Amino acid sequence: MSHITINREHAARGRFAWLMGVYGENYWRLVNLFSPDRLDCGRYVSSVGDGLDVQLDVIAKHPYTLELKLSYTFHDELTGQPDPSAHILCYRDARVAEVTACYVGSRLEDVLERFGEYNAPVRELIAATPPENLFKWGLFDRNVRERWSEGAVTLLGDAAHPMLPFLGQGAAMGIEDAMLLARAFDAAGSVDEALRRYVEARQSRTTWVMQQSRETARTYHSGRSENFQPGRHVSAESLGIMTYNPAAVPV
Ligand SMILES: Cc1cc2nc3c(=O)[nH]c(=O)nc-3n(C[C@H](O)[C@H](O)[C@H](O)COP(=O)(O)OP(=O)(O)OC[C@H]3O[C@@H](n4cnc5c(N)ncnc54)[C@H](O)[C@@H]3O)c2cc1C
Repeated sequence: MSHITINREHAARGRFAWLMGVYGENYWRLVNLFSPDRLDCGRYVSSVGDGLDVQLDVIAKHPYTLELKLSYTFHDELTGQPDPSAHILCYRDARVAEVTACYVGSRLEDVLERFGEYNAPVRELIAATPPENLFKWGLFDRNVRERWSEGAVTLLGDAAHPMLPFLGQGAAMGIEDAMLLARAFDAAGSVDEALRRYVEARQSRTTWVMQQSRETARTYHSGRSENFQPGRHVSAESLGIMTYNPAAVPV
């Protein structure tokens, strides 16, 4: 494979080419810091005397891939893990570097700071949490995916329509998808027709629920009082989401 030359500025954000451009940039940044391809397995530190040393562990070297761990020389006091740190897989022939996992510690102080203005019982409750039980959970809002199917392959559930959890509907939408997919196959004479019927039946419904979940996040979790209207409580039930009958809607 020849190395990646895509400049991500010429690729649309969110497309595969853009992602590959990011991987390519990652690789060249790493090369500028460490030339990892030329290093033996072991630990290396890049230091310019600013107190922010960067540490690279070359974990494994194979003919086509390199496994690396990159971190600052800070450590999570609780776990002893380098924090923050990233596990990186380099494809040597393609000259791309992919971050396969990252570690960012979760600290009680960070949570307490966020709830600093809350009243005492809330802060006491948080402070009583054993630090080792803390877990940082990222929520990622995604754009609506316009294309679900290609050839005989299609998507359902979160892969097709990941949504914020504020209406508690993600799994419910996946179950509805499954029902409509089965019904589309019953009704259609070919795979193409079944997938087309399934996507047509499901896209507007799931897009609407995604948008409502996003709206609910803005109403209840934005931290801005102007977004909250007392008396206008929104839930899956009040929005009528549960009146949809996947066994009966047209497909
Ligand atoms: C905080 C929170 C609260 C939620 N509350 C609710 C709720 O109250 N009600 C509700 O309906 N929904 C809720 N959801 C959403 C719900 O959990 C998801 O929408 C649902 O689990 C999606 O199901 P899925 O089968 O599409 O995907 P997943 O459950 O993500 O299943 C995908 C599976 O594929 C596996 N996988 C991934 N890559 C590969 C690979 N390369 N090879 C093989 N396997 C692979 C994964 O390990 C995983 O097991 C909530 C979500 C969150 C985060």
